Amino acid sequence: MRKLVFSFVFLVTILPTGAQTIINRDPEISRMVDEISCERIEQDVRKLVSFHTRHNLSSQTDPSKGIGAAWNWIKAEMEKSIPVSEGRLEVKFEEYTVGGQGQRIARPVTLKNVIATLRGTDSSDDRKILISAHLDSRVQLDNDSTSFAPGANDDASGIAAILEMVRIMSAGKFPATIVFMALSGEEHGLYGARHMAAKAKEENWNIVAMLNNDMIGNSGSSETLLNDNMRVRVFSEGVPAYETEQMAALRRYTSGENDGKARQLARYIKEVGERYVDQLNVTLVFRNDRFGRGGDHSPFCQEGFTAVRICEFNENYDRTHKIPAVVNGIQEGDLPEYVDYEYVRKNTGINLATVANLALAPFEPENCGIVVSGLTNKTTLRWVTPSKGQEPAGYYILIRETYQPLWEKKIFVTGTEVTLPYSKDNYFFGIQSVSASGHESLALFPGQARRQASQR
Ligand SMILES: [Zn+2]
Repeated sequence: MRKLVFSFVFLVTILPTGAQTIINRDPEISRMVDEISCERIEQDVRKLVSFHTRHNLSSQTDPSKGIGAAWNWIKAEMEKSIPVSEGRLEVKFEEYTVGGQGQRIARPVTLKNVIATLRGTDSSDDRKILISAHLDSRVQLDNDSTSFAPGANDDASGIAAILEMVRIMSAGKFPATIVFMALSGEEHGLYGARHMAAKAKEENWNIVAMLNNDMIGNSGSSETLLNDNMRVRVFSEGVPAYETEQMAALRRYTSGENDGKARQLARYIKEVGERYVDQLNVTLVFRNDRFGRGGDHSPFCQEGFTAVRICEFNENYDRTHKIPAVVNGIQEGDLPEYVDYEYVRKNTGINLATVANLALAPFEPENCGIVVSGLTNKTTLRWVTPSKGQEPAGYYILIRETYQPLWEKKIFVTGTEVTLPYSKDNYFFGIQSVSASGHESLALFPGQARRQASQR
């Protein structure tokens, strides 16, 4: 016999625009977001530019120029936070070899990623939340390893965001593990990210989310001359790059082509990011990356992980990958004076808020399903309490009409089953676990409920 177990239900928000109101800011996450410093971000970007080039074939031994000096400096900066982490932060190089005749990198080279891992406070919690940016830079020609390649926006802005998060978050106590990645090899084929994604797959990492930050500091466009530091893009794949026959069958059965895991993560970044960061609109772009292009999140998607790209809304192609020079009266080159540091600060904030909220959240509910027995205009959802980690204080049921991009309603329930007066034919649903202090997990998109849901 089916039993209705929810004890109370309340509506968190309904707005005609579909936007969600602020639920509650966790004062601790707010404090960390407020700590992000424009000045430190600018200092970091200028320091990275001072290495002249961070080309993948540039010097690894010169103490002040080239990619080697850059990764050594990044590692040393991250290591400064080991004491405040009480030994939970570990900073390591991850090496891999790429290149050779006929390849984009013309000779074999061993490159290094800098990986800072903030171990979770709960040793039984195997979840990892990954955040990345790339440390290499380039100009037009693939193998020009000596020209000035400042890469201030692409992607010193992302590295500065990561460094700032390591400084601020290392003292925090998060049950899940956070992995901060400064990756090399991006500009020649995402090699550093490919290496990490393969390693994660091989070692069977339980990755909740991967956030790739590539170019988060340019606020004006070339040609169209738009200027906007109040919008940032989150790119997410729709139909996953990695999809088994079984996943495809479930997608067709549920009409879930707009509800893959990356899409749920993107919606989560919008909701949580905007909860904590003022004057920033997170704009979801429903594609994996820019038209026909990719980034360091792509290898993670291909390995079956949940990964998105965070990127400025407007790009300036007079600057990207150009040798600094005045051409037809226009100053070209990716120089530090063109980075909008206030914009980087806000974009760092949405990253920090998302990662912190996820790392504090309970595990996702399991076996989420819609009950399909009998014809009814109501919808019964059923799920199972997560088998690991803290027990959720309850669950959020997310609801939207099928043609809407964002969740429109968010309802708190306790128990593991609920019946709502919304037809499953006309609405999509999502289910999140939520802690007593309001940290929610990513949303699970329900399939068909199994006949008997077991309890822990
Ligand atoms: Zn880039």
